[in-house]
Amino acid sequence: MKVYVQDGRAVLLGADEVIDIHERSGGAFSSDIAGIYPRWDEFVQWAEPFGSGELDMETLPKNELDAISPAPRQVLAVGLNYVDHAAESGFSVPEYPIVFTKFQSSITKPFDDLELTSGSVDWEVELVVVIGSGGRNISAENAWDHIAGLTIGQDYSDRDAQFRGQPAQFSLGKSFEGFAPIGPVLVTPDEFLAQSDCVIECEVDGETVQSAPIADIVFDIPDLIAKMSAVVELLPGDVLFTGTPPGVGFGQVPPRYLRSGERVRSSITGLGYMEQACR
Ligand code: ZN
Repeated sequence: MKVYVQDGRAVLLGADEVIDIHERSGGAFSSDIAGIYPRWDEFVQWAEPFGSGELDMETLPKNELDAISPAPRQVLAVGLNYVDHAAESGFSVPEYPIVFTKFQSSITKPFDDLELTSGSVDWEVELVVVIGSGGRNISAENAWDHIAGLTIGQDYSDRDAQFRGQPAQFSLGKSFEGFAPIGPVLVTPDEFLAQSDCVIECEVDGETVQSAPIADIVFDIPDLIAKMSAVVELLPGDVLFTGTPPGVGFGQVPPRYLRSGERVRSSITGLGYMEQACR
């Protein structure tokens, strides 16, 4: 099943048609997707008969799309969650996930301009999880039952701000306006997990800078959900950035950062792509 948000309204991409969820359900489900996440299991039951359409990026109304969870109450993000990205960052793989936040106001739609805040803004394509029914102390075995679906995210990072001070704190440098685009569509776990050879990629001006199998992730999604929910109650619509693969600009010698006019395209097998123009 695939869902997206168009001009603020939750839309289902059915097998044969595009469905406005609020209208078709006779008002049973909110037009605001934030009102649907708390009732996700009920929604999936309702939506099942409409089937799941092919994701065609050419026909998707890109400029009308909003973030798939526009105002999550919590955004959790994981650092150093791919072996070779930890190495290029000068760290060993952590024994426990490194967790920080991107403040909610950094969340933005999937096709938008990215305003560069300095000469050290870097890309980090990530697989993003959106929570359906949340909870505390969710076991790894049950984790997928609490997840609404998966989408693409960019964890844009101003490296100067990120590494300012000792010890460094990550959250501010990753929370400037527009630094957390998520989308374009939410794909439910059953569909996403049915794929094999899933690849995560980032291109800058057509040049592939990051490309890795999703399977290279260190702490997998059920493990992350278990470890995080042991501390924080996960709430419907919460967003989890699961870490970036190797190939960020900061790991290059000399470092390469984004420049005005460059375009960043982020893609994951089965989830389509999103794109920002830097200015
Ligand atoms: Zn990241």
